[in-house]
Amino acid sequence: MNIHEYQAKALLKTFGAPVAEGVAIFSADEAEAAAKSLPGPLYVVKSQIHAGGRGKGKFKELGPDAKGGVRLAFSIEEAKSHAKEMMGNTLVTAQTGEAGKQVNRLYIEDGADIARELYLSLLVDRSVGRVAFVVSTEGGMDIEAVAHDTPEKIHTIAIDPETGVTAADVAAISKALELSGAAAEDAKSLFPLLYKAFNEKDMALLEVNPLIVMKNDHLRVLDAKMSFDGNAIFRHDDVKALRDETEEDAKEIEASKWDLAYVALDGNIGCMVNGAGLAMATMDIIKLYGKEPANFCDVGGGAGKEKVAAAFKIITADPKVEGILVNIFGGIMKCDVIAEGVVAAVQEVGLKVPLVVRLEGTNVELGKKILNESGLAITAADDLDDAAKKIVAAIKG
Ligand code: GDP
Ligand code: MG
Repeated sequence: MNIHEYQAKALLKTFGAPVAEGVAIFSADEAEAAAKSLPGPLYVVKSQIHAGGRGKGKFKELGPDAKGGVRLAFSIEEAKSHAKEMMGNTLVTAQTGEAGKQVNRLYIEDGADIARELYLSLLVDRSVGRVAFVVSTEGGMDIEAVAHDTPEKIHTIAIDPETGVTAADVAAISKALELSGAAAEDAKSLFPLLYKAFNEKDMALLEVNPLIVMKNDHLRVLDAKMSFDGNAIFRHDDVKALRDETEEDAKEIEASKWDLAYVALDGNIGCMVNGAGLAMATMDIIKLYGKEPANFCDVGGGAGKEKVAAAFKIITADPKVEGILVNIFGGIMKCDVIAEGVVAAVQEVGLKVPLVVRLEGTNVELGKKILNESGLAITAADDLDDAAKKIVAAIKG
């Protein structure tokens, strides 16, 4: 789960991180009061969307010459006019895809005088099984290019969970970032507290790009991107409350309501499966026969008929889906329940694309009987191979 920059900064502030004063607004009318509450004379008006690259982004409605999604303002009047121009419009950045994202929230922040822009992130480094700092002196808006062209400028410092961030770790990170003076002093508290926040809140990613050295030589978190481990969200009601569903894929929201694992992909065969292993095998075999999965929805074990029907509806709601493959091995999950769920969903939403069903396991005969007697145009398959061949053939027409 992701949150907005302003929310991430507020959270980091509770851990003691240096962030600027700022006010989030939900309508352009609030811009004046927000700016007036800040010290000035420099303000920054920042689009709040769950995507990076806002500074270099372009608003669809404003044309190529208009300013981007992060704008400096040198007066309250200017902050107001930026807010008016930005709010409600669609920002397209390198991370949003062509469709862009509508800006419904702005963050008006006290502007900083920047001396250097650095890159810092914390993530789970699976190769060493530890949380690691990834840092570079080349922060700001082009970190992807730095990673691609000059990977030696990116440094990874993994942290031993037994000790947490040690003085030696701080020194290593500070050295990699070429910090000295007041900035190096600030680092001694900042790096450990970022690590603490990351662990306590079960984050999957904390990216500060840029971390800045200001002209007064102090550090400040200028941008913050935060993702949380979905499997640990239940432990953090405060984080859960920050969820902005307008930023998320409608199908994924619906899936999470039903506790279904739904993943959208690029192909055109929708897959309903149970269990991650069977999902992987199903996708592999679809690819083997020359097609790509559009998604997969894992109904897990022990789902009821309603949950199966919900899963089926989510899969069919994707306009990319040209055919559906239901591949279930009934263990805890019973084949008749799957069959009933599929039939119920098809009766409700109709079936506009070919459907191939392969059932195996508990109550398989009963499941097949329900499908056969439903009168629906369902192609039965005997095994995984047969199922993949049939759905690929059906799509190719
Ligand atoms: P992003 O483009 O989505 O990553 O948004 P950022 O929050 O990183 O802002 C983009 C860029 O705007 C930064 O890299 C800075 O160069 C600039 N910027 C943001 N805030 C300030 C500020 O307070 N003062 C100044 N001078 N520039 C800022
Ligand atoms: Mg940034």
